[in-house]
Amino acid sequence: MPLEPRADTLELVRRLIGFDTTSRLSNLELIRFVAEYLEGHGIRSTLVHDRTGTKANLLATIGSGPGGIVLSGHTDVVPVDGQPWDTDPFTVTERGGKLFGRGTSDMKSFIAVCLAAAPALAKRNLKEPVHLAFSYDEEVGCIGVGGLIEHLKQAGIKPRLGIIGEPTEMGVVDAHKGGKAYETTVIGLEAHSSQRHLGVSAVETAAELIGELMRIQAEYEARDVPGAERFMPPYSTVHVGTINGGTAGNIMARCCSFHWEQRSLPHTDMDEAHDRLQRYVSEKVLPRMRRIHPEASVATRVLAAVPALVPDEGSPAEVLTKSLIGSNATEAVSYMTEAGLFQEAGIPVVVCGPGNIREAHKPNEFIELSQIAACESFVDKLVERISA
Ligand SMILES: [Zn+2]
Repeated sequence: MPLEPRADTLELVRRLIGFDTTSRLSNLELIRFVAEYLEGHGIRSTLVHDRTGTKANLLATIGSGPGGIVLSGHTDVVPVDGQPWDTDPFTVTERGGKLFGRGTSDMKSFIAVCLAAAPALAKRNLKEPVHLAFSYDEEVGCIGVGGLIEHLKQAGIKPRLGIIGEPTEMGVVDAHKGGKAYETTVIGLEAHSSQRHLGVSAVETAAELIGELMRIQAEYEARDVPGAERFMPPYSTVHVGTINGGTAGNIMARCCSFHWEQRSLPHTDMDEAHDRLQRYVSEKVLPRMRRIHPEASVATRVLAAVPALVPDEGSPAEVLTKSLIGSNATEAVSYMTEAGLFQEAGIPVVVCGPGNIREAHKPNEFIELSQIAACESFVDKLVERISA
């Protein structure tokens, strides 16, 4: 296996990393670059914008006919704010067989390899089309790809299978957890802290709710779920990430909110913690709050939801990817990807891409050059396989 990627692939990695596509920013410059590059090789792109028009998914079909193979990746990256980088995160730096830069592993190298293969694909006589599908806003809850999947439906495009190129070190991932992210907001009543009987502390109530969530977490940990041993950790999880509330040490807090999530094993209830928290609120917490303050409230809203990737043994995606890799092994991972959404839309998918998830989201994110080369040879084999 060659350890050095081709020069055109490396140039594309450089160009893609150079666009700061942190999820809070527009990804349109990158998308325009990709569309122009493909256009230069006679490949037309369709853009599916978000409501504000500042972000877009890109879909480009090479070849024609029904079915086809989706190669999918997200164009956005996580922020670098406050991270101690040794190099400019948006300039690729090569050192010791590695490329450093934000998005090198997660996941612009995969997109670069797909783009580098596009000119050759366009010249071949393909037995089935290849759909390049590049999304926005994956890192903030897989929000963007929904519009792209909807567009496929509307356009009557029914891909036979999909490969999502998140970093798996080119292993085949056939299962991941699903997840939902929430914000819970507690509204109580302010009072002087010496006058507890007159107020309802939102901070104390939030702490109580978090306590309930942690009891649910402990239950998940102790529960036996078939197939769970493939995951690390081998159980569904509840996590509280931020909490915000109160005005001063001597004021009973009127408002407190916290962000939390449940990550669920496949085939388990994604809403369990949410539903149990709601019950706890309406049966135990609210009646007590409202005895003092009838307008007291607790509201939980869903910020993001991503279905689990459910193992689908013998699916066309699994069979093809395994045979291209030359391995029979599959893995399960605990991070979420857009794969669950493609699967939900009836497109069999696996996750398989270059780089290591351990490097993702961290300062000095990098990818081994050998990983990019391995992905190139994977895509080369795919091109041979589907050429007439
Ligand atoms: Zn990613």
